[in-house]
Amino acid sequence: MTRHLTVNIVTPNGVVYEHHAHMVVAKTLDGDLGILPRHAPIIAPLAIDEVRIKRIDSDDHVDWIAINGGVIEVRDDIVTIIADSAERERDIDVSRAERAKNRAEELIREAKSHADVDELRRATVALHRAINRINVSKHQ
Ligand code: ATP
Repeated sequence: MTRHLTVNIVTPNGVVYEHHAHMVVAKTLDGDLGILPRHAPIIAPLAIDEVRIKRIDSDDHVDWIAINGGVIEVRDDIVTIIADSAERERDIDVSRAERAKNRAEELIREAKSHADVDELRRATVALHRAINRINVSKHQ
């Protein structure tokens, strides 16, 4: 039988995604990671970015997930992503993400004017989260 991947994405709120797949592409802090069956075992920290999953049970269908930091583990054809938060493209509230983006941009402006490095770092991460959600929602 052809080998496939089992993909699980979990967050503190529970299981977000559980499917069989031909391929997974994720962005680690070291760059893109493409995973096919028989991939070598790996554990890597994930960037705030999209994860692309080519599912087995839907012809050429690709699922897109907004991943907001976390860890990916690959072992024995099982891909496990443990994320701080994760949303499938269809579950993203775009207007909420737009509001979060505007808020973060305003906070960045304020942090720069006060030379507040901690606030600038927090707001920049929030901006990345919002932009990532907006980008992933466009794949619907
Ligand atoms: P916000 O300021 O809108 O709350 P945030 O980036 O601070 O955004 P998080 O702390 O990353 O939000 O996430 C809190 C919870 O809300 C998580 O369960 C996350 O999946 C969910 N969430 C956040 N933004 C969205 C969105 N735009 N659409 C759907 N779910 C979202």
